[in-house]
Amino acid sequence: MKKSIENKLEISQQAFSSWKNTSWKKKQKLIKNLANILDFNAENFGEIITKEMNKPITQATAEVKKCALMANYYADMKPQLQIEKVKTDFAISEIHYVPKGIILGVMPWNFPFWQVLRFAIPAILAGNVVVLKHASICLESGNTIQKIFEEAGFPKGIFMHLEINHEEVEELLAHDYIQGVSFTGSEFAGGKIAATAGRNIKKSLLELGGSDGFIVLDDANLQEAAKVGALARLQNCGQTCVAAKRFIIHKKVAKDFMKLFIAEYQKFIPADPTKADTKIAGMARPDLAVDLMKQYKKALKNKATIILPLEKIAEGILKPGLIEVKPGNPILQEELFGPLGMVMFAKNDEEALKMANDIPFGLANSIWTGDKKRQKYFVENLESGTVNINKMTSSVPNLPFGGMKKSGYGTELSYHTLQEFVNIKTIVGK
Ligand code: NDP
Repeated sequence: MKKSIENKLEISQQAFSSWKNTSWKKKQKLIKNLANILDFNAENFGEIITKEMNKPITQATAEVKKCALMANYYADMKPQLQIEKVKTDFAISEIHYVPKGIILGVMPWNFPFWQVLRFAIPAILAGNVVVLKHASICLESGNTIQKIFEEAGFPKGIFMHLEINHEEVEELLAHDYIQGVSFTGSEFAGGKIAATAGRNIKKSLLELGGSDGFIVLDDANLQEAAKVGALARLQNCGQTCVAAKRFIIHKKVAKDFMKLFIAEYQKFIPADPTKADTKIAGMARPDLAVDLMKQYKKALKNKATIILPLEKIAEGILKPGLIEVKPGNPILQEELFGPLGMVMFAKNDEEALKMANDIPFGLANSIWTGDKKRQKYFVENLESGTVNINKMTSSVPNLPFGGMKKSGYGTELSYHTLQEFVNIKTIVGK
């Protein structure tokens, strides 16, 4: 391992030795400072996001504002991870929550601030310290986040951005100081990182891809569903793990819904990401657009039909596409991470449910119906970490977020995530 990284790890480990005993109140005070910095500078930080990965500036600024909201949630949370006394035959029976140490975050480019802070803030509040390997196109975001921690008054070494490559991640995971890893990104990279963590007996948390269903039943508010559906697919240029990727429409309303949906979809016209009224721009990297085009061709080769063609406008910039896909098309086994939506038609609720569940992923689903009985049927049977009713998926600080099946394991957000990187220690005696 490079000497410079070794030195930074020493600083982190040193920081951990006092941070783990820092009071809940003091940690929250610093998180509050961080929230204020994020809120106050949302536009400036948003510009960094836009520059690095082409997110339209209004969405980039909103991402930073949401980070501030989440930081405030943790800054205001009543004390957690306190000593628990349990009644047993022994005089002393206690459960203690002990932070693990240095936790590595390996984070992607699609939400360069949100993904990092969503993991780091609760991990740090639980008493850990964090080192970050950010996506290689988001180094300025990584450096800026480190500066924000410093400016908020966190001691040196609580949060450090390491500009490292894949091999160095592997070396880090073998290092005794690193006690766990939180990864957000592709299934392929997540599998590799979790395997390395497992080999080194380190805890891992994986937030991977999804292919969420957006299920519209025959009694749904079609206008609302069409409007929200287009946004749910195309926000952030479709590069969101919980984007609606498959639209499963009840056959009875297929014609009416599709007319409204196509009209809403066509409002997303790629434009300059720095302009305030831009809804969609280029993809984060040109190679991601090339990969999506390959997936489009694969879908068509397997009998998908075109509703709106996916078209290359310039390098890395695609005009959003929509395709109709039938069960059995191998494209359904893949995540489409960009402006391409899949549409399927179901003859009844049972078929819609089967279509929704028949994929390797299980991140989230959105079900559109006013009928409580039908809502219950989908809530109980959809195989996903989140089920949304008459709304698109969006993460909320005080609700848990995580996937089933190949969408990963572990919980982010809410108070539940505080337990991800602590050891439970039992104290018992006479
Ligand atoms: P990756 O999963 O490859 O990248 C995410 C992060 O992991 C980056 O920091 C990357 O670093 C790092 N990384 C990748 N491979 C390794 C490795 N072997 N060891 C250590 N670190 C690694 O995503 P891509 O950028 O390649 O995007 C590909 C696809 O992944 C997308 O099309 C989408 O399907 C999915 N994805 C899902 C996301 C989600 O939110 N669930 C987010 C991003 C992508 P570096 O940048 O240096 O390669």
